[in-house]
Amino acid sequence: MSVAEDIANEPGRSFERGVANSVLHIDDVHKSFAGLHALSDVDLDVRQGETHAIIGPNGAGKSTLLNVCVGRLKPDRGAVVFDGTVLTGKQPHEINQLGVARVFQTPEVFPDLTVLENVMVPALSKRDGHFRLNPFKSFARENHIRDEAVSVIESVGLKAQLSDMAAAMSRGDKRRLELAMGLIQHPRLLLLDEPTAGMARHDTNATIELLKQIKQGGMTKVIIEHDMHVVFSLADRISVLAGGRIIAQGKPDEIKNNPKVREAYLGEEQV
Ligand code: ADP
Ligand code: MG
Repeated sequence: MSVAEDIANEPGRSFERGVANSVLHIDDVHKSFAGLHALSDVDLDVRQGETHAIIGPNGAGKSTLLNVCVGRLKPDRGAVVFDGTVLTGKQPHEINQLGVARVFQTPEVFPDLTVLENVMVPALSKRDGHFRLNPFKSFARENHIRDEAVSVIESVGLKAQLSDMAAAMSRGDKRRLELAMGLIQHPRLLLLDEPTAGMARHDTNATIELLKQIKQGGMTKVIIEHDMHVVFSLADRISVLAGGRIIAQGKPDEIKNNPKVREAYLGEEQV
C-alpha cells in the first residue's frame, strides 16, 4: 500500500472527498515540456497553518509545481485550488492579489532599487492594486509603509543594508530580501523555493528561526528545500517528488524511514 493510500485510509479522511482543512489543493496536475513529463498525476493538499515541505532530487519537478501554483506555468491537465478559488487560468498578479506570495529559486529583486525600496514596492502595489515606478514620487513620503518595511527588513537581518542597491548584494542576501518582499504582503500562503540556497550556515539558521516565528503567526507555507536540516527543522508534513510523481507523503519521521524515499535519493545527499 502506498503512503498516499495510507493517508487516504486514515479515519475521517479521504483523498476523493478532499483533506480536512486543506487550503491549497493540487488536483491531478500534469505538465510536459516537449515530451518530458515534468509533473504526472500530482495530487497534494496543504492544510491551513502548516509548513509543508516538498523535497526530491534535482529535476524532480519541484520548481515546476511551484510555478504551476503561482500561474507562471499552465498545467496540461488538472487544477490548483486555493481556499475554494481555482487558480489555474489566472495571471500571476491575480493569484498574488488573492494572498499567495512566493520566493523564487532565482531571486527576483529590482536591481536598481535599494533594499528599502524593494520591500516597499510590493506593499505599495498591494495597496494601489498596481505599481509603476514614478521618478517624481518619493518613496520616503510613504511613512507608514516605510516604517513597516524597515521592521520587516530588520526581521530578515538586512537592516545594515537598508540603503544598499540590490544589484550589489550576494545571492544569499537577495534571497533574504525576497523573503522580506513576500512577508510585507502578509500573505495567507507563502511559497518558498529553496529559500536558504546560497546562504552561509549561520544565515540559514537565522532563516529557520525566522520561518519558525512566522509559523507561530499561523501563515501557511510551502517550502521547497534541498537542505534536509532546514526541512526537518520546519516541516509539519513532507511530500516527496521523484521523476515528476509524488512517491511519498507524510510526517517527517514517516518520510525519513520510507525506503522509496531513500531509494530516490540514492547517489544524492542522505535523508
Ligand atoms: P526541480 O525544481 O525539482 O529541480 P524542475 O521543476 O526545475 O525540477 O524541472 C523538472 C524537469 O523539467 C527537469 O527535467 C527540467 O529540465 C525540466 N524543465 C523545467 N522547466 C523547463 C522548461 N521551461 N522547459 C523545458 N524543460 C523544463
Ligand atoms: Mg528547482
